[in-house]
Amino acid sequence: MHKELVIATQNQGKAQELQHLLAPIGYQVLSLRDIGLGEVEVEETATTFEGNALLKAKAYGEKSGKLTLADDSGLVVDALGGAPGIYSARYGGPSLDDAGRRQLLLENMRGVPTPKRSARFVAALVCYDPLTAATSTLIETCEGSIAHQEADGGYGFGYDAIFLPEDHQQTFAQLSPAVKNRISHRGKAVERLRQL
Ligand code: IMP
Repeated sequence: MHKELVIATQNQGKAQELQHLLAPIGYQVLSLRDIGLGEVEVEETATTFEGNALLKAKAYGEKSGKLTLADDSGLVVDALGGAPGIYSARYGGPSLDDAGRRQLLLENMRGVPTPKRSARFVAALVCYDPLTAATSTLIETCEGSIAHQEADGGYGFGYDAIFLPEDHQQTFAQLSPAVKNRISHRGKAVERLRQL
């Protein structure tokens, strides 16, 4: 009998990555759509990645009554004072899509020389068990830098096409999912969660 685990994200790119990463550990992974909560939004009002992940894990865990895993993640750019950070999904306002947000970020980084383009992806994962109210929190980062222009190999989502992970010459959107999952913020956090 498989234990059920709800993945509390409305973001299809993240849901797919998490399903792929968690499939081998004996849990039946359910999306919010699978349990009829596909339209339910939770406001991310906390000021940290882990605070927002906790809000989402608790809200969807209480609504579903099932073990729930929530992720909050984003891109932290040093030359922009940490922006877009927890506002990564909403950078530039609601009229922009992923491509528009990448262009805006490149625009805001124009003229910043390579050594000052350091950045990192951060992922906070919170697992919430509504039966016991127990929570587990994990935070991981992936260090890298912002490319001078987009380089899209057709993989990934969000800011992948402008993020060069440390020790790699290609962006996350050019590296295969297998490589990304091994070194990414979310991949490393899930690996630790699996060990737990
Ligand atoms: P949230 O965690 O749903 O608030 O959204 C995080 C946002 O950060 C996403 O919408 C993406 O724009 C960005 N992001 C987080 N992880 C990644 C990643 O692995 N690749 C590219 N963008 C990411």
